[in-house]
Amino acid sequence: MTVESLPAFTAPARQRWESIPADIRQRLLSNVWCGRCRRESTNTNFTGTIKGGDPLLVGKCGECRGDVARVIDGS
Ligand SMILES: [Zn+2]
Repeated sequence: MTVESLPAFTAPARQRWESIPADIRQRLLSNVWCGRCRRESTNTNFTGTIKGGDPLLVGKCGECRGDVARVIDGS
């Protein structure tokens, strides 16, 4: 499966993202698993991509600046 990397959210991804309540969005951004820190961290400088039709947040770990990603599933 290929991941289409985008500099920002595409219109469909943005629409999906903005349909999520703000408090949930905040939680998605503030609870990203970082494999390097081995704990949940904050997703900073995130951008949106599309993976398998679902928005995927990618960004940097707020602690170690490593790459982190989180799929936003349709549910
Ligand atoms: Zn980290």
